[in-house]
Amino acid sequence: MSQFNENYAFALHGGAGAVAGRNYDSVEEHLRSLTEGCRALLAKGCSALDVVETAVTEMERSGMYVAGRGSAPNTAGYVELDASIMHGPSRAAGAVAALPGFESPIQVARGVMEETPHVLLVGSGAEAFARSNGYATVEDPASYYIIPVGVTKEEQTDSNAHGTVGAVALDQSGALAAATSTGGTFGKLEGRVGDTPLIGSGTWADDEIAISCTGIGEHIIRAGGAVSIACAFKSGVELETAINDMLIEVKRLGGDAGVIAVTRNSSMATLYNSAGMKRASVSNQQPLQVTTFK
Ligand code: ASP
Repeated sequence: MSQFNENYAFALHGGAGAVAGRNYDSVEEHLRSLTEGCRALLAKGCSALDVVETAVTEMERSGMYVAGRGSAPNTAGYVELDASIMHGPSRAAGAVAALPGFESPIQVARGVMEETPHVLLVGSGAEAFARSNGYATVEDPASYYIIPVGVTKEEQTDSNAHGTVGAVALDQSGALAAATSTGGTFGKLEGRVGDTPLIGSGTWADDEIAISCTGIGEHIIRAGGAVSIACAFKSGVELETAINDMLIEVKRLGGDAGVIAVTRNSSMATLYNSAGMKRASVSNQQPLQVTTFK
């Protein structure tokens, strides 16, 4: 399916949990430099899969978002992380859910994709896989985890507050990929899993489209999530309409959400019906755009 076309496109999000009136300048600056770095990688021919993993790993590492280092403990008092990654041309996919004790769940998810015959490993099984494959562990949770930008200490126990990071890319070979990682909703029960690690729900990539979702996972799962957008788009529905139809369904179920997508012809969309969504995008035809509320 792949053919060299010289087009590339990239979008990322730092979650649909942005709260109106708060200052996300540092987040937007971070998204800007990260997007510029990913644009340069794509321009020199890097694969979409490597670029989305790089972007999500950096957002996990930063502690600025509710993912990786910015995650908060569940009601049992420890951090469990969810992440997934998908490669469009091969439909290869990997994911981890309720993973405790590791710095970069997206890297472990890629390991599941490449080193096992499975798509999703959860809890203690995901932990055992990550440990035996040497992924970086969190040695001292009390000092490692920090409060992300735009979140208060009180909100870290509030189940209505949440955040996620995600990236989608089209590379110059025509390959699409998507990756998403989250600390989940604040105040979640031990073992709670949202849309993020579920292929087809929080993350999807095929030959035509790559998608990463953010919002309350319970609503996204029940609204059909990313693959419902992909199916509509591939049946001829306009990209923005396909995304908005899923977002409307999330709203009808009582939630709100955000979606980023890139397509094989390098169209991009970053849409949401929450108060805001931290996001950025760039392509070989479109200059870098970064914003949270507009
Ligand atoms: N979708 C994530 C979850 O439900 C949270 C988010 O995107 O903000 O775990």
